[in-house]
Amino acid sequence: MANNQKKHSANIPGPYYVTSPDDPGGQGCIACTICFNAAPGFYSEDAEGYAYVSQQPASEAEIALCQGQLEACPASAIGNDG
Ligand code: SF4
Repeated sequence: MANNQKKHSANIPGPYYVTSPDDPGGQGCIACTICFNAAPGFYSEDAEGYAYVSQQPASEAEIALCQGQLEACPASAIGNDG
């Protein structure tokens, strides 16, 4: 599970977030590249290759795209506070 107490500092405010790679529970981003390659308008890569949410989804299609990355993330690092 993603950790909403350890969000990447670059996440734009809103329901979707990426958990920081230094999450003590091991739920952080592992820089696999999946989310920011599949949904580049919404997930971005920081200088070290870790992901953060750069734009929150608004339309149903955008939400589906972001939710798809949440489900695809191999580290379960993406969360949705709803
Ligand atoms: S899919 Fe998950 S592990 Fe991969 S870059 Fe995105 S947040 Fe990080």
